[in-house]
Order: sequence, then structure tokens, then C-alpha cells
Amino acid sequence: MSGFDTTVHLVYLACASCFVIGLHLMNAPATARRGNQVSAAGMGVAVLATVAVLVHGGQITAGAVVALAAGVAAGGVAGLIAARRVQMTAMPQLVSLFNAVGGGAAALIALGDALGHATALITTVLDLVIGALTLSGSLVASGKLAGLIPGRPLIVPGGRWITLLLALATVTLAGLHLTGRGGVAALGGIAVAALAAGVLLTLPIGGADMPVVISLLNACTGTAVAMAGFIVGSSPLIIAGALVGAAGAILTQLMATAMNRSIGSILTGGYGTGDESPAAVGGAPVREITAEDAALQLAYAKKVVVVPGYGLAAAQAQHEVVALARALAERGVHVSYGIHPVAGRMPGHMNVLLAEADAPYEQLKDLEEINPAFPGTDIVLVVGANDVTNPAARRPGNAVSGMPILDVDRARGVIVIKRSLGHGYAGIDNELYALPNTSMLFADAKRGLGALLTGLREYAPQ
Ligand code: NDP
Repeated sequence: MSGFDTTVHLVYLACASCFVIGLHLMNAPATARRGNQVSAAGMGVAVLATVAVLVHGGQITAGAVVALAAGVAAGGVAGLIAARRVQMTAMPQLVSLFNAVGGGAAALIALGDALGHATALITTVLDLVIGALTLSGSLVASGKLAGLIPGRPLIVPGGRWITLLLALATVTLAGLHLTGRGGVAALGGIAVAALAAGVLLTLPIGGADMPVVISLLNACTGTAVAMAGFIVGSSPLIIAGALVGAAGAILTQLMATAMNRSIGSILTGGYGTGDESPAAVGGAPVREITAEDAALQLAYAKKVVVVPGYGLAAAQAQHEVVALARALAERGVHVSYGIHPVAGRMPGHMNVLLAEADAPYEQLKDLEEINPAFPGTDIVLVVGANDVTNPAARRPGNAVSGMPILDVDRARGVIVIKRSLGHGYAGIDNELYALPNTSMLFADAKRGLGALLTGLREYAPQ
């Protein structure tokens, strides 16, 4: 091995270490940003090292350099603009688009390699299948979340049979390709079948289940990229792909567990059509409260826990909730946030929103940490959260049965800000709303929190 090769391998090793360290740093909100930067730096260096290898080996023509530079510039600028402009609520569909790009790129590597080499590889076929399926599946998922495709489950008549036929066709074409008989037509056929399967598998899944699907497709992207790494003999691609694949698979499992659903039931579709129209809590009366009264209760509480949910994200009220928490803390109230792992519509949704509004990290408590604290809490302020607080989850026989919940009903008092008695994602009544220690402040989260802040200043001055 030449000195150049050794250096390149050492650089690749350093890059792989950056990916692992970056992932580790992403474990905690306080270090997550640095983790992202470390991983991105590792990837940047890996790309530069790969260009150096191509130039050193004389494997790259002037035309290819121009094409590469144009690709990097176009992709880099598009990615930067998309990432900078995206609203926090539109993050899942952007992640899905990035997945689509990753899967598509991996599939193109497989096609390019197969067309350029005489030997047929099983990794090429797997890369093509997983990459193409991820590309079309992620585009559909992104379209559903962005509202370009209806979010409800779209059942294609005979869809399962068509998917089965596509799978059989793929296996047959792969056999032809691997025995050297298929040519370009077999590869094209495999790509088309995988693209169609991606669409058919994603359409029947309800819009609100999409984050789990996106996480699964993310795992597929990682696997396809690792396969592409085997094809082109690139260790950084293999390592980065394997890390993304493993992280995506673990996240998918964690999300499914936190929602008390099996991955199989999510993938068969037909559940989670999104928020539903208003309803009564099984006919039981609920107690309404004005913003002024709620502000007074909060002002004179010793301990307050804020529980944010999807409604906070929908109303973009993260700055208002943090401003209120700060105002309470300034009055000497002990404030923390109770974060459920699947509150919102994507993993870490609430952490990201609260971090954007500079909520102190030490105030963010996860489910295991905050649940024992509820009996000693004066007021829980629930903002746009529904299913993750429903005590019905402790009983069998309903849509949230078995789902781990935030035990907010065990606090001395609960104030819920939401617009109506409308259902959450699971589509059932929340028994919390009819409990005697719960009061409802019917308002859009942003407006309701604003009114609480005003009430605090006007009716309970320090
Ligand atoms: P829910 O979906 O249970 O409830 C959200 C509530 O927010 C609704 O009941 C709605 O009530 C209210 N809301 C909507 N807009 C506003 C607004 N502008 N202002 C105030 N309130 C508003 O949310 P949770 O966060 O409690 O639970 C998340 C659910 O999503 C769980 O069931 C989870 O399993 C599921 N899920 C989560 C995923 C994740 O990765 N986090 C992925 C997939 C599903 P109203 O209309 O009355 O205002």
C-alpha cells in the first residue's frame, strides 16, 4: 500500500470516527447541534478525500470534474436553502425529501455500476431495489405530509396483489440479471417494479403515521447507501450507510413502541387519518376557565409542569410558551417541561421546537423523569397535547390502550389549552378533560398563551 493510500485510509477512519462521535453527541439536546456539525465535517472531509483519490489515480476527466462541481454546487445550494427556509412544522416532509434523494442517488450508483461492468453483483440488485423503493416511497410520504397528496389512507384496489406480483417480477428479473441474461432491460424492469412498489406501499398509510414510515425509509436509505459503498468500494459510504440504517431501524422500533403499535400494523395502513372534528367527552361536562383565572392559578402555584403537544407545533407557539415559562420562573415558580417521546408528529418534535425558542435544556424532562413528579405538581399546563395525556391508555380496549402516557391527571390541577374538545391523532375522547381537577382554556395555542402572559402581567403583578 502506497503512502497516499495509507493516508487516505487514515483520513477515512477519522471521518468514520466523526460520524460515530456526532451520533453520540446527538443523544442530548445540549450537544445535538455540535453532533450535527462534527458529522457534517466528517462527511465533508470524506468527500474531499474521495475527490483526491480520483484525481491521484487519474480516474477523472476534465468533463467529470465540471459535472461533479456543478452537482455539488446545485445540490449544496438547494439543500442549504431548503434547510434554512423550512418551517419547524414542515421538517418531516423535508427529511422525507432528503431520504428520497439519498435513495435515488444510491439506486443511480447501482445502475451506473451495472452498466459499466460485465460482472453482476447481488449488492447491485439490492441497492437498486432498496434505493428505488425508498425514492418513490419517500416522495409519496413527503407529498402526504405537505398536503399535496391526501393524508388519509388511499387504498388502491388489489394493491397487495399488485405489490406481490411486483415482488415476484423483481426476483425473476434479478435472477436473469445475476445469471448474465437480462441485460439493461432486466435492470430497468427491477427499477420500475421497485418504484411502483414504493408508491403502492406508502399510499395506504395514514398521514399521521408517516413519521414512522419516514424513519423506516430513512433506515432503507442508509442500507441502500451502504450497499452502494460495497459496489464502489468506499468505506466511508459503507460506514455512514450502516450507521444511518441502524439508527433509523432503532428509531422506528422506539417510535412504534411509544405509540403502542406494531411496525406491521403501521405498514398495513388504514389508521391515523389526522386530527378529527370536535366531539364531547362521552357526554360528560367539562369545566371552562378564562385566561385571567388560569393566569392567577399559574402565578400563585409553586410548581408548574408544561406539557406541549402537536397543537403547540401547529400554532407555532413555541416562543409564547417559553416566554410564559420564563415569566413564571421570574416570579419564583418552579417550571419544567414534560416531553412525551411521540408528542407532535415527528421524533424529538417538542425538543426541537423548545430548543428553537431557547428553553433551558435542564428544564426539559422526559416521560420517566417527569411522571413521578406529577403528584407533587400544583398546575400542569397542557398546550395542544391530547393522546399523550389520555388516562384511557391505562385501560384495555381502546385506541391508546397500553401507550405510555404523561400522568398529568395525578397533578393537583390541570389547565388544557386547545381550540375545542376535538380529538387527537388516535381519534378518541380524552378522559382527562372531564376530570374534576381539569379546566379547559379553549383557544389557539399561540393566542391562549399570549392571553395568559397578559393576564399574568395585569392581574398578578409582582
Ligand atoms: P394529538 O394529535 O393527540 O393532539 C393534538 C391536539 O392539538 C388536537 O387534539 C388539537 O385539538 C390540538 N390543536 C391543533 N391545533 C391547535 C392549535 N392551533 N392550538 C391549540 N391546539 C391545537 O397530539 P399529541 O402531541 O398529544 O400526541 C401525538 C400523537 O401523534 C400520538 O397519538 C402519537 O402516537 C401520534 N404520532 C406521533 C408521532 C411522532 O413521531 N411524534 C408520529 C406519528 C404519530 P383542537 O383541534 O381541539 O385544537
